This record gives sequence, C-alpha cells and structure tokens, in this order.
Amino acid sequence: MTLDVNLGERSYPIHIGTELLNNAELVESLVIDRQVLIITNDTIAPLYLRATEKLLSSAGTLSSLILPDGEAFKNLTTLNQVFDRLLTLGYSRNCILVALGGGVIGDMTGYAAASYQRGVDFIQIPTTLLAQVDSSVGGKTGVNHPLGKNMIGAFHQPRLVLADMNSLKTLPDREYAAGLAEVVKYGILGDSEFFSWLEVNAEKLLARDPVLLAQAVERCCQNKATIVAEDEKESGKRALLNLGHTFGHAIEAHMGYGRWLHGEAVSAGMVMAVDLAQRLGWLTEQDVSRVRQLLLVMQLPVEGPAEMAVDDYLPRMAVDKKNLDGRLRLILPRSIGCCEMVSTVDHQLLCETLRSCSA
Ligand code: NAD
Ligand code: MG
Repeated sequence: MTLDVNLGERSYPIHIGTELLNNAELVESLVIDRQVLIITNDTIAPLYLRATEKLLSSAGTLSSLILPDGEAFKNLTTLNQVFDRLLTLGYSRNCILVALGGGVIGDMTGYAAASYQRGVDFIQIPTTLLAQVDSSVGGKTGVNHPLGKNMIGAFHQPRLVLADMNSLKTLPDREYAAGLAEVVKYGILGDSEFFSWLEVNAEKLLARDPVLLAQAVERCCQNKATIVAEDEKESGKRALLNLGHTFGHAIEAHMGYGRWLHGEAVSAGMVMAVDLAQRLGWLTEQDVSRVRQLLLVMQLPVEGPAEMAVDDYLPRMAVDKKNLDGRLRLILPRSIGCCEMVSTVDHQLLCETLRSCSA
C-alpha cells in the first residue's frame, strides 16, 4: 500500500508492506544514474545492507557509510563523517542519500541531506517500528548537542519512505514495544476507531503479525501525514503528536538517556496525561483503565520510575519546547481520540497525577 504526504511540490509517497526491500521498481526512478550514498550503522548493516544495495542497483554510483550504533553518536562529529565521505567521493548537488535504520540514522541522514551543498534529496528506509510510524515521516531532522537533544536541525522532507515490515523481525523486544507506544499515541490523540482496533489486535501486534502490522503502520502514517500536511512546521496542530512526551522527556532526562527507552517513557507519560484528564473531569475512570490495559498488554510501563518524585518532574517539564512565556503547556485528551493543548494546568492536580502515577 502507498500513502502520500501532501506538501505541494515537496509531496512524497510512503510505501508500506512486506518484501519491499526486494522491489527495486519502487525506487528506480529516483536513483537511476545518480550518485547514491547509503547511511546505516554497524548493527543494521550485517542484516539489511546487502538487500538495500541490490534495491538501489540502478544508481550511477553506489557507496555506503557504516556509522557506530547509538544515540550517543547522533552528533556533529558523526555528521562530519558523512560530509567527509560525500566530499571525498566527489558527490554533487544531484546526489541522493539513503537512511537505512532507526530514528537515529534517519534524523542524522536527513540533516546531512538538508545541509550538504545547501540541500540534497534523501530517502528513508526505516527499520524500527518507531521510525516507521513516527520519525521517518514529517521532515524533522537533526542531531543532538551536549546541552540538549535534537537542538541542531532543520525541516527537510524525504523524497520517499519505504517501510518494510520484514525488517522489524530482527528488532529487539524492548525496542519493538517502545514503538508500539507511539502507535497507541495516534489512537488516543485523534483516532478512537484505531484505538478500539488496537484493543482487539494488541496481542497479534505484539507477536509482530506482518499483515496487522502493515495496517497499523499505515494508519499511523496516515494520521501523521494529515497532521503534517496541515501544520508542517509545528505552529499548531502538530504539537498534538507530543501527547505523553512532556512527562516522558522528564523521565528520560532524569533517568539518564537510554535507561528508559523513549517509547517506554512516552507510555508512562500517556498514562499521566489521561490520569490528569480524568482529574479535570474530561475522561472517565473506564477511559483511563482502557489506556492502561492496552499499554500493559503491549508490555509497556504504566507508571513512572519509583525513584522519581514530583520535584524531579516539575523543573524538567518546565523546559519543554512547547511551553510559551514560561507557562507549562500539555497535550491532554478530552476523550479517547480527541486531544487538545492546555496552557492553564492546575498545579495541584498535576502534582496529584505525578504522585499517583509513580511506581
Ligand atoms: P535507534 O535508531 O537508536 O534504533 C534502536 C536500536 O535498534 C539501535 O540499536 C538500532 O541499531 C537497532 N535497530 C534498528 N533497526 C533494527 C532492526 N531492524 N533489527 C535489529 N536492530 C535494529 O532508535 P529509534 O527508536 O528508531 O529512534 C530514536 C531516535 O529517533 C531518537 O534520536 C529521536 O530523537 C528520533 N526521533 C525523531 C523523530 C522525528 O520526527 N524526526 C520522531 C521521533 C523520534
Ligand atoms: Mg516520540
């Protein structure tokens, strides 16, 4: 199946399915006779680089760059290795970069593409569930700075996204579950029908059933594509994609990046958001337990870490990018499937939520 992200002349297709890595026709018109650089890491290369090289064999020149694996390498030093390679190879402005990997490789490759010779094309081949439903779509690219995550970056849309369900088979269980948290997010934030579908199919999804998985990825990408088409640079609706993230970022930052995976922290963060919404009288107790139950089946955390107290959350939440004029802004559900941004959060209720949602 193929979806389109409608952004005028920057529109692009997202192909979702199985065996896509073997379908060279999908990419041929984009890469034919061009200088192509695949960027991947040392975990993914042994698994999928050969197939990707075959996929791209109509390229004029084809090279690959294998970076070290990890968020710790998503920085300007690694980015410079990409530029070194491109310049050493003599790649021109007409070259095209291919991101083969999860969100780290995708964000870094996208930013390299945004800035090499003031901007070249790139293709996303996301190999994690998180990257397939979130980071590969929407054009946010960038790297980390020692003083902050994703602090250096650009908006730069890919020319094509190719999400092959087969590539998820090798994903570690924890990474896979963390991706499911972002899947659940789309249900809560704007798609109640999808949320119900997830409740019915949660166990099969956890077992990585490729047909259901392709349906879920498609639905998430559809939701994200609609939001991005309306608000490409996050001046409004796109902020809804941050449901659970303000709480989650506080957990990730306090615990030290990597101990809690992003999706795990978002999972606990979404429970906090629905808990707070219940305290505001927006959600019923049953809504809250549906969210908790779904996340539990998906083997995700539904409480913040035991070692975090209310005072560990508040200062970290206060530095969130969504905040305006020093005021905390949170994405909270009015109902399952309908969220809004709230900038007048009752401090007392927030503290109650943080207390009651900690292990
Ligand atoms: P990741 O890229 O670090 O991948 C997770 C781990 O899985 C890595 O060790 C990776 O090598 C390994 N891996 C990847 N694919 C595999 C496969 N098919 N089989 C086996 N192992 C595989 O992490 P991620 O969760 O994909 O992405 C997180 C990053 O994405 C963060 O840097 C975050 O900032 C970024 N992100 C960006 C956006 C955006 O809109 N641009 C959105 C969300 C997250
Ligand atoms: Mg996220």
